[in-house]
Amino acid sequence: MSAIAQMVPDARGRYGRFGGRYVPETLVAPLEDLERAYAAARADSSFQAELDSLLHHFAGRPTPLQFAERLTAHLGGPRIYIKREDLLHTGAHKINNALGQGLLVTRMGKKRIIAETGAGQHGVATATVAAKLGLTCTVYMGTEDMERQRLNVFRMRLLGAEVVGVDSGSRTLKDAINEAMRDWVTNVESSHYLLGSVLGAHPYPQIVRDFQKVIGEEARKQIMRAEGRLPDRLIACVGGGSNAIGLFHAFLPDASVKMIGVEAGGRGTTLGEHAARLAASSGFTGAQPGVLQGTYTYVLQTSDGQIATTHSVSAGLDYPGVGPEHAWLADEGRAEYCAVSDSEAVEAARTLARLEGIIPALESAHALAELIRRASRMKKDELVILNLSGRGDKDMDIFSRYV
Ligand SMILES: *Cc1c(COP(=O)(O)O)cnc(C)c1O
Repeated sequence: MSAIAQMVPDARGRYGRFGGRYVPETLVAPLEDLERAYAAARADSSFQAELDSLLHHFAGRPTPLQFAERLTAHLGGPRIYIKREDLLHTGAHKINNALGQGLLVTRMGKKRIIAETGAGQHGVATATVAAKLGLTCTVYMGTEDMERQRLNVFRMRLLGAEVVGVDSGSRTLKDAINEAMRDWVTNVESSHYLLGSVLGAHPYPQIVRDFQKVIGEEARKQIMRAEGRLPDRLIACVGGGSNAIGLFHAFLPDASVKMIGVEAGGRGTTLGEHAARLAASSGFTGAQPGVLQGTYTYVLQTSDGQIATTHSVSAGLDYPGVGPEHAWLADEGRAEYCAVSDSEAVEAARTLARLEGIIPALESAHALAELIRRASRMKKDELVILNLSGRGDKDMDIFSRYV
């Protein structure tokens, strides 16, 4: 396993049977260009040095690994450390990837970024990086989502991005993705498509993972400094899967480190009520291997292969597909995946707010809810790292409806 972990993806962008590149002919050359440009950047120490400097001075890395003293005492179980990605500029881990790809764009000599966004968090991170690096930025967003996330639309425009409303289909994320793809095909000479999670055709899942793996690299050093040993368990929420793989990656060769990915259990286990693609063993139905947006992975779909609707209280977890590397880790049994409900996540957020003075994003609160659920079954000297992927400021409307 440890040897395999260092090798994925293979040359064709495969993680075991998952991943790959399922795209129309017009996208093959642009993806190959991107793959070459990324390989060159990765081998260039000045690229990494420039990125490290931006991550430090602009985004606020390294983020603390904080011992959660009152939460640990309250649960009476394992010793809990929180990786504070919520403290980053723009409020979540998404800026790590946006900065990495932004810098890659400048290296490729392109001047324009295209992105798509659902709740607007990835759009804001992308618009922020475009402003910082002097790139123009077009963000596609369903008009239904624009209505629901007006503040983020305003933020993107204030940052100088053009936000294009998409009025077709369900007027949400999947329609925005189609429009963004169309733009990219048309303008590929001048423009880069900045994908926000470990999704899409090769090389995107690898690029995004590499730009997020700093989370686990830091956490590994920090826990060794604090406790003198590796953690027993890592826990993170999984939407597309970028914050989770970001934490997990540096620990994959360490067989003693268990990994838990937490998906959105929504309102129930029937198809349409959740976004649990890998937690089938907990009774969530509808996930089958299939192709979605260029990659082969577990996809929530009906019995005749139509992409299913999903539900989650947290927009960042509300997606029918999952990163192919997670599909592979699940099949290998190297990581375990489960799901928690909307109400459990909201309750967990309240607990963290009151005990630690941190209001987490609803996405991150899913990971915490699973940890709370298991804590009584865990040993007192067990060490756990919880990835706090983002802060909860964006979720105040939802909290106020529940609380
Ligand atoms: C977008 C988002 C997620 C989900 O994305 P991943 O790619 O699964 O990490 C999780 N947490 C926060 C705070 C987000 O903004």
